[in-house]
Amino acid sequence: MTIGGSTVAAELASLLPWRDPTPRITAGERAARLDRARALTAEAGADALLVGAGASLRYFAGVPWGASERMVALVLPVEGDPVIVCPRFEEGSLLAALEIPADVRLWEEDESPSALVATGLRGGATLLVDPQLPFGMATALGTCGLVLRDASGVVDACRMLKSPAELALLSQAKAMTLEVQRRAAAILEPGIAASAVIRFIDSAHRALGSAGSYFCAVQFGRATAFPHGLPADQLLEEDQLVLIDTGCQVEGYHSDITRTYAFGTVDAEVHAIFETEQAAQRAAFEAVRPGVSCESVDAAARVVLERAGLGPDYRLPGLPHRTGHGIGLSIHEPAYLVRGDRTPLAPGMCFSNEPMIVVPDRFGVRLEDHFHVTETGAAWFTEPQPSIDRPFG
Ligand code: ZN
Ligand code: ZN
Repeated sequence: MTIGGSTVAAELASLLPWRDPTPRITAGERAARLDRARALTAEAGADALLVGAGASLRYFAGVPWGASERMVALVLPVEGDPVIVCPRFEEGSLLAALEIPADVRLWEEDESPSALVATGLRGGATLLVDPQLPFGMATALGTCGLVLRDASGVVDACRMLKSPAELALLSQAKAMTLEVQRRAAAILEPGIAASAVIRFIDSAHRALGSAGSYFCAVQFGRATAFPHGLPADQLLEEDQLVLIDTGCQVEGYHSDITRTYAFGTVDAEVHAIFETEQAAQRAAFEAVRPGVSCESVDAAARVVLERAGLGPDYRLPGLPHRTGHGIGLSIHEPAYLVRGDRTPLAPGMCFSNEPMIVVPDRFGVRLEDHFHVTETGAAWFTEPQPSIDRPFG
């Protein structure tokens, strides 16, 4: 019995912090990231790269801060030491988090951080700017005599290709969430509130040693027809479809796994859609090999759906969104498995595979597992769901 039959207390009591936590990213690996970014910046004909607070700052400098209205930025000149621009009152916190050697330039609340960015760069220098930097900060930089260009090409080329150390951190996050999904299925019972399952999943993620769920969606019955759910809380009824999508982070690296299964008995039509969903997920996986485009993986899933009379394209009943997204230090990051994304797949790239089928206003089935591209094809981080009654292998 994998669905129901246990309790919140029993499951939480038997969860222990993850054994053999994956090693953190080393100083050597961070230095190599900076070298690669420098080389790509020079190749792009620019003088420096600027990355604001957010996942890319964590990637290059180890500082796990989100963006706020105060500028925190890494300036990486093609030649010379990295510079970190940061509010002076944050200096202690910055130094405790910073994992690369850098020249730290501090600004007081009434000073201009943009002027500090420009210091040390020649007038008219070309700066590649992180596309995640708030527009207001980019505008202020533009008044400092710098030529600004989009840094997406450089940042994505670095972050898309995961190293063995990154793959190991992603693997641990996904293994943890799969275990949490397994426990969540076990606590289901008629009348349980979706909000109670969400709280349990957060506690279970914490019990395994993460900081809790990064996000969590628990949907029953008709609510499964809405990819990101409905606002009201729900109580589980017999013979309903259950959809749970959740994830956590390990050293900033994300998991994101969806299971859709029957609590009791569901219609033959739901079984048929489930089987089509499995086939679409499998077809996308089998289309993966180095050199093929991201969009061709999306197309492979849609061929299966169209053969089953679903779609075409984004039309419902069918798949209303892309087949998958890149994942790493951001939960959604380039490249994307979607028509129009012609990025060639390469070993080390990581994606979700989730060609959800929505039957409008009635139900939806999403199976979401992630894979990484290998030299010859793809490898799953977590094994796909065996059947509608067996969420786990
Ligand atoms: Zn998801
Ligand atoms: Zn996802």
